[in-house]
Amino acid sequence: MIEQLQNLPGVGPKTAQRLALHILKQPENQVQALAKAIVEAKKQVGLCSVCFHLSAESVCEICRNQNRDNQSICVVADSRDVIALEKTREYGGKYHVLGGVISPMDGISPEQLNINPLVKRVSQQSVKEVILAISPSVEGETTTLYVGRLLKPFTKVTRIAFGLPMGGDLEYADEVTLARALEGRRELDT
Ligand SMILES: [Zn+2]
Repeated sequence: MIEQLQNLPGVGPKTAQRLALHILKQPENQVQALAKAIVEAKKQVGLCSVCFHLSAESVCEICRNQNRDNQSICVVADSRDVIALEKTREYGGKYHVLGGVISPMDGISPEQLNINPLVKRVSQQSVKEVILAISPSVEGETTTLYVGRLLKPFTKVTRIAFGLPMGGDLEYADEVTLARALEGRRELDT
């Protein structure tokens, strides 16, 4: 159990041990409930066929929401970023989750990310603005420029402003910083 827990992000050997001991002290039905919740979530949750955000349905709640602006798409690297941006309550459009960033060092090429479906989406429907909201890092920058160039022929492309620290993850930015970054977005120059 300790070995398995240690595979989780942000869990070192000490934390894994603490969690394992805590679980062992729990009543059995509670441990069953936890195990079941993990397995069920894994079984039921897949990716939205439109935006690639985590979803239990084939099309996610955000994509299905008629009150959200269809003509604005915010592009993020990961589902965690969608959750972080939703917390700000500043954004009323749709999203597109790339599933990572371009990283030759880690062997991640543009073809492995959900970039083609994004280009298709933007070229086939009327989109007024694409907001690139990818965490600032060397790979993030490469991805922003790459995706921006592909989308520019079809629509206005902006990027969120960086009061965000270089290398800082979107998900760790507090809501006010993130809301400001979104508000202060500017057109991407490629
Ligand atoms: Zn969706």
